[in-house]
Amino acid sequence: MYDCVVIGSGFGGLSTAFRLAEENKKVMLCESLKYPGGCASTFEKKGLHFEAGATLFSGFGKEQLFAKWKSKYQLPIHFTPLSPTVLFRCGETNISVYPDREKTIAQFCAIANAPTKSIRAFFAYQKKIADILWPVFDEPNRLPPFNFSGLWWHVQRSWRYLSLLPIINKPLIKVLRRFNLHEFTPLIQYCNALCQITIQTNIEKAESPFALCTMDYIFRGTGHIQGGIGTLATAMVQQIEAMGGTIQMPGRVKKIEQSDHGWNVYVHKEMVQTKSIVANLLPSGLEKIFPKSQLPPPERQIQNNVERGWGAVMLYLIIKDDPSLPRHPHHIQCVGDPTAPFQDGNHIFCSLGGSEENTDPHKRTATVSTHISIEQYTNHPNVAAQVARIQEKMKQVLHDKIPEIVPHILEYIPGSPRTFARYTARKNGCVGGIPRQVGWHNYKGLWPRQVHPNLWLVGDSVFPGQSTLSTAIGGARTANEVLRKLS
Ligand SMILES: Cc1cc2nc3c(=O)[nH]c(=O)nc-3n(C[C@H](O)[C@H](O)[C@H](O)COP(=O)(O)OP(=O)(O)OC[C@H]3O[C@@H](n4cnc5c(N)ncnc54)[C@H](O)[C@@H]3O)c2cc1C
Repeated sequence: MYDCVVIGSGFGGLSTAFRLAEENKKVMLCESLKYPGGCASTFEKKGLHFEAGATLFSGFGKEQLFAKWKSKYQLPIHFTPLSPTVLFRCGETNISVYPDREKTIAQFCAIANAPTKSIRAFFAYQKKIADILWPVFDEPNRLPPFNFSGLWWHVQRSWRYLSLLPIINKPLIKVLRRFNLHEFTPLIQYCNALCQITIQTNIEKAESPFALCTMDYIFRGTGHIQGGIGTLATAMVQQIEAMGGTIQMPGRVKKIEQSDHGWNVYVHKEMVQTKSIVANLLPSGLEKIFPKSQLPPPERQIQNNVERGWGAVMLYLIIKDDPSLPRHPHHIQCVGDPTAPFQDGNHIFCSLGGSEENTDPHKRTATVSTHISIEQYTNHPNVAAQVARIQEKMKQVLHDKIPEIVPHILEYIPGSPRTFARYTARKNGCVGGIPRQVGWHNYKGLWPRQVHPNLWLVGDSVFPGQSTLSTAIGGARTANEVLRKLS
């Protein structure tokens, strides 16, 4: 009898299983695919390695989750904090975004006629908000405060939460207006692009506290995992096994059912018994393997929000290595037409792997992604033509904005929401988690999501969601609750 079966090895499931295994619980991790990581995995094609979706990894700052796990268990991975981390190119704007806050702010201040005083005041305010919220989001034991010391931690800093009141339920554009920066185009463009890739919305709609907090991601332990994010996922799987966990990979869970002792899980040709289950699935994914029970309305609501959100259109590039290319990993976020919406190929995130990272010394790979509205995608009469049109647009933006790479591209391998649906089993290929659009609803459901007795959901539909680090924190937090229940 297992203490817990974890279904899915996205970063939510990985960190749940990791945390339970390190507490000596009898845990099984089941993953449909032959490799772990889900949307943040590294796959092999034509003898080369490609990042499936996520390319930048966070959580390696001092005292952060992955830094702690790496050092405690000597995980065999190499994390490089890049400087600059990302190059941002949009219209006339060219910003190198450094992990050093001051250096990044100086870039904005150096723009001709920049309102330097307002820019500095805005970033100081942004830092203040991030300093309040980041420790709450970043530490698995903060929400809910399981014990007296956790509660005391919140009580001691409760006066700081008061500073959030003026910006709760307000879009980010209002904050920018307060600093008279709503007409300073480079910062508006930067904030829009940043909100799009973090909290999955634009500054007109972004809930300010979430937006201002996640803007800090670049300054807090973000960089590159040598060999790809899958290297970390694999290292975690191996460590779970070393700590006594069982791995079923490939091992698709077909059905779960309640029993007298807890749960029966049908994986491969086996049925295993467990006291609890953590499903690293979207609510619709859970309903598929547990159809007898309809999920309660809050979970359905989340699913609707995710499904009304985003999918990703991809181009995986094979690139001939060339001395003119940067040797280190190279991340460029760029926008073709600054006046058009930051989606559908107009806004792309391009990540080129390092020169010594691939199996072929003459070839490198890059992953390029763009957002697509999943509602428009699923309702489109000719999905294939729509994806092809977006991929043409992506190529155009690559050509216009990243000329250092384009001459060396040997091949484009396309991907679409259908690819994500096929590989990660996410309904309609919706990715990116819950868009944090303005409203009080963002402050509901901040706890682990127990959807049935001893059955929890983790992943990017669960707070804090929306990135590898956030899903991992959500997983570790859920594991803590499972541990409490088991004890
Ligand atoms: C294009 C793109 C770019 C991104 N860029 C970044 C980035 O640079 N940095 C960042 O931090 N985040 C990024 N993200 C977000 C990040 O990848 C996700 O938030 C995170 O990886 C989601 O993790 P998850 O825990 O929700 O699990 P998922 O990734 O959804 O994984 C779920 C796993 O469960 C498995 N599974 C499904 N059904 C079953 C079943 N029945 N039985 C067994 N296994 C099953 C799937 O195969 C999958 O491996 C990006 C996302 C995308 C799509």
